[in-house]
Amino acid sequence: MPGRFAKKVAIITGSSFGIGRETALLFAKEGAKVTVTGRNEERLEGTKKALIDAGIPESNYLIVPADITTSAGQDSLISETLNKFGKINILVNNAGASLPDAQKKFGIDQGVDTYEKVMKLNVQSVIEMTQKVRPHLAKSKGEIVNVSSVVALKFGFARTPYYPLAKAALDQYTRSAAIDLIAEGIRVNTVNPGIVQTGFLGSATGMSGDACQEFYDNMGSNPSVVPVGFSGRPDHIAKAIAFLADRDSSEYIIGQNIIADGGTSLVLGLHAQFPRQPASK
Ligand code: NDP
Repeated sequence: MPGRFAKKVAIITGSSFGIGRETALLFAKEGAKVTVTGRNEERLEGTKKALIDAGIPESNYLIVPADITTSAGQDSLISETLNKFGKINILVNNAGASLPDAQKKFGIDQGVDTYEKVMKLNVQSVIEMTQKVRPHLAKSKGEIVNVSSVVALKFGFARTPYYPLAKAALDQYTRSAAIDLIAEGIRVNTVNPGIVQTGFLGSATGMSGDACQEFYDNMGSNPSVVPVGFSGRPDHIAKAIAFLADRDSSEYIIGQNIIADGGTSLVLGLHAQFPRQPASK
């Protein structure tokens, strides 16, 4: 298929739903051969259907059920991609979540077991995938795009402290890895989304679909939270990921963050406490 990702092979982790699914779809529409992955078979079927509905031929996608936090899952993802497509040009480390505390605690009372599993998913799996895909990306002069969060920025997030900690660590890892890997021609960058309507909130809180939608609508319509006036959609983030994964568009960007948050990070804290200016006529 023609397009800016023609002849490129991309592994997109966490592509059974949300931002990852939309990224897989966008890349495939723009010519990439994509490996779609996640643990949940039903969700994976949903991404497969979206690809078929978009007219993507079976020769251009591969579905690999895998837990990205396991060595076996990572290895099968890479080996099955190489078996079907023969190379890897792009790795999008998108799988991630704010995992609930087993004891249902919040703040600094959340257990070290929660810290460990949040770090394993959001940071360790990225480190391991980066190490394992490195030789293939060195060969193809490829790209890595990590998906972080605005919660990685320099403010506290008391309710669930380990998720922002993990994303801040991911940002710092991106910078270090970017210097290391550019010597081999591999670019590493990050996208930091704000509030985006996906399965994220439901997984993190157990809230129902309706309650999540109400949250997204309320947050999105509050300009003290999201100045642009609406919650983000997965395609907003997919487009930023595609920009960083496309060397023609972003060749000179190395180890940077693109914050895609509708302005949320510009107004955190103090601003929210002030009465809003009446709209000028
Ligand atoms: P979703 O919950 O909609 O999707 C998460 C994806 O990650 C799913 O495909 C899920 O697959 C996969 N995943 C989670 N754990 C594992 C695992 N152990 N092994 C394999 N796959 C896994 O959330 P989003 O699309 O929103 O999240 C994508 C990224 O965006 C994450 O890194 C998240 O931290 C980040 N982000 C999201 C924001 C938001 O508001 N939505 C804001 C800021 C950042 P499956 O369930 O099939 O295992």
